[in-house]
Amino acid sequence: MKLILPDYNYVFEDEIAEVKDGILYVYKPGAFKEVMYRLTYLIYGKDECYFCHRKLRTDISETDESKYFSQITLDHLVPQEFGGPTISNNMRPACSRCNNLKSNMYPDEFEEYCMYEGKKDKEFKNLRKNFKEKLQLKQEKRRYGQLESIPKEWVSDELFRTIYVNFWISEPLGVEYFKQEKFYKKYKRLPKLAIVSQNRFLLDGFNTILLAKYNFCERINVIVLENVYYSGFPE
Ligand SMILES: [Zn+2]
Repeated sequence: MKLILPDYNYVFEDEIAEVKDGILYVYKPGAFKEVMYRLTYLIYGKDECYFCHRKLRTDISETDESKYFSQITLDHLVPQEFGGPTISNNMRPACSRCNNLKSNMYPDEFEEYCMYEGKKDKEFKNLRKNFKEKLQLKQEKRRYGQLESIPKEWVSDELFRTIYVNFWISEPLGVEYFKQEKFYKKYKRLPKLAIVSQNRFLLDGFNTILLAKYNFCERINVIVLENVYYSGFPE
């Protein structure tokens, strides 16, 4: 798949990456996530919430009724819990209120949730209850892989041994690894995808690679970013 990029050339601060002629070059190992955060703000701006369309004002204090908000965050459209990748295609600037409320919902689910939330009449109370029950069922199905959680056209299935990992762990396995391992044992599938560049370097998803290795999964789900190139240093 193609990563959403600005249509102009751009060099990231500290030269960790560069957009040149429609290709993103990543120069620094481990910098991919940081590049994605900066890239998303670069494309979508930093001053409006994607969901409630309120504007950012840092000089005022935020209240629920306010037309403004005071803190910008990045929301994952496909929630991280269901494998939503940290790439510009899957992130939008959001106020912290919307981001917290949305939590692990998909955009359409969040839209429905917003119709019921905060309403006091009985009718809405029942609708809200129904919605929450249905949502929980759907979420459990997603965890078992019985319901599509990531757009099919984003994903390809690859032999994990064909992916170059150019950094290795120097510390014991982290909390995030054990969280993912627990998921793997319960739901019998890897919770996250690996993200790789066009030249097959691992950009994100190190724990996924480790899990695959330790559990003898030959094939894993991968997002191949066709317009991203990893090269260890600026050319
Ligand atoms: Zn908002």
